[in-house]
Amino acid sequence: MRIIVIGGSFGGLTAAFDLRRLLPRESHEVTLISRDRRFTFIPSLPWVAMGQKTISDISFDLEQPLSSRGIDFLEASVTRIDPSSKCVYTEDGSHKYDYLLIATGHRSANEAVPGLGPFDGPGHSLMSPPESEEARDSWQAFLRDPGPIVVGCAPGASCLGPAYEFAFEAHHALKKRKLCHKAPITFITPEPFLGHFGVGGFGNIRQYMEGELEKRDIRYFTSSAISRIAAGGVETADGKVFESCYSMIIPPLAGVNAIADSPGLGNPKGFIPVDSNYQHRDFENLYAVGVAVAMPPVEETPVPVNFPKTAHMTEQMAKMAARNIVADIMGEEKTSHELMVECLMDMGQEAVHMVADPVRPPRNVSTISKGRRWLWAKRFFAGYYLWKIQRGATRSPKWVW
Ligand SMILES: Cc1cc2nc3c(=O)[nH]c(=O)nc-3n(C[C@H](O)[C@H](O)[C@H](O)COP(=O)(O)OP(=O)(O)OC[C@H]3O[C@@H](n4cnc5c(N)ncnc54)[C@H](O)[C@@H]3O)c2cc1C
Repeated sequence: MRIIVIGGSFGGLTAAFDLRRLLPRESHEVTLISRDRRFTFIPSLPWVAMGQKTISDISFDLEQPLSSRGIDFLEASVTRIDPSSKCVYTEDGSHKYDYLLIATGHRSANEAVPGLGPFDGPGHSLMSPPESEEARDSWQAFLRDPGPIVVGCAPGASCLGPAYEFAFEAHHALKKRKLCHKAPITFITPEPFLGHFGVGGFGNIRQYMEGELEKRDIRYFTSSAISRIAAGGVETADGKVFESCYSMIIPPLAGVNAIADSPGLGNPKGFIPVDSNYQHRDFENLYAVGVAVAMPPVEETPVPVNFPKTAHMTEQMAKMAARNIVADIMGEEKTSHELMVECLMDMGQEAVHMVADPVRPPRNVSTISKGRRWLWAKRFFAGYYLWKIQRGATRSPKWVW
């Protein structure tokens, strides 16, 4: 029996390692196909933009960790999937499967707002390694000739945390250089209030975030729809124009082209509809996890804000999907549980640790805690995660993500 996993990041790698551990090697082949041959710890991309880390510091080649654990690795870009004939097509050929697990993440939907960048317009982004490297080079140039900055998220964004993180880190970097007076920061978000994060907020995060931005003299605008990013400024739908020499704007996301180009597989945005077991709603041998999955927003907001699918949540989904594929094969009952979210956000000199369990309200746990110890925890965890996932260890310790 052949199980194919597409995607070599949090979702794909976690699922492939678990599948390999749970299924006998003699009778079950596990193959991982990934467009990128390196795993990158994406949550560290803001540190790349700030020049604190390089991509090679936060990534590793997938070949050895996979092959040494009996997983076939194929570096290839999937162009299309045909679920009725159970076939994955790449640029080099086709691959039949008995079970397929898709963890292809996102495509930045830069077409949503004119000027979203960095390769389609003057805006900067953190959504991928090349984008964070571009953000770093432009940031270095900006520091030599500073001016006003706009940081924010476009309408429909779901990955909102990195915008806050960038605003705090940028402020910290400017403060160290005594440049805050030359580079006022404006934060623009579609969220109805600060700290909504696409999950409806939690605990007293709103008051906390307002206080933290105000303490740093960062102006903020909520329920704001960025409508254009130009070289010298950012415009919002209500006609405001904000001068900006450096615009870090997080885009809305869509599913990757391989899903959009496979009829019947995804929704109109290219995300994959799954049930609570992460099984495709129409194709029983197909599972999907992570950012590639369709999940509705928690509530309707005046300006659209979408539901975030974090790496921590992706890891939980991947473990459930792998277990359910095995249950399917063995004729056992499938199981699933509600997702929770835990996050560590770098705020410059300190960090904040946030937990929402379950992630969709109402919740049993909703906590935030801040302090320098969380910054150390975040730094430690990034290195630890890279170390342990290379060894096929898929379980993260509790209370550290
Ligand atoms: C700047 C930033 C900071 C973040 N910080 C945090 C954080 O602090 N905590 C947290 O929990 N989450 C964080 N996240 C979210 C987290 O990075 C994502 O949830 C996570 O990367 C999702 O993993 P994934 O496996 O679903 O997809 P991805 O990480 O997007 O990986 C997709 C994989 O699929 C492969 N792929 C894509 N298309 C194809 C194709 N056609 N053929 C073959 N392979 C393909 C890619 O090569 C890649 O290996 C952050 C995200 C960003 C952008």
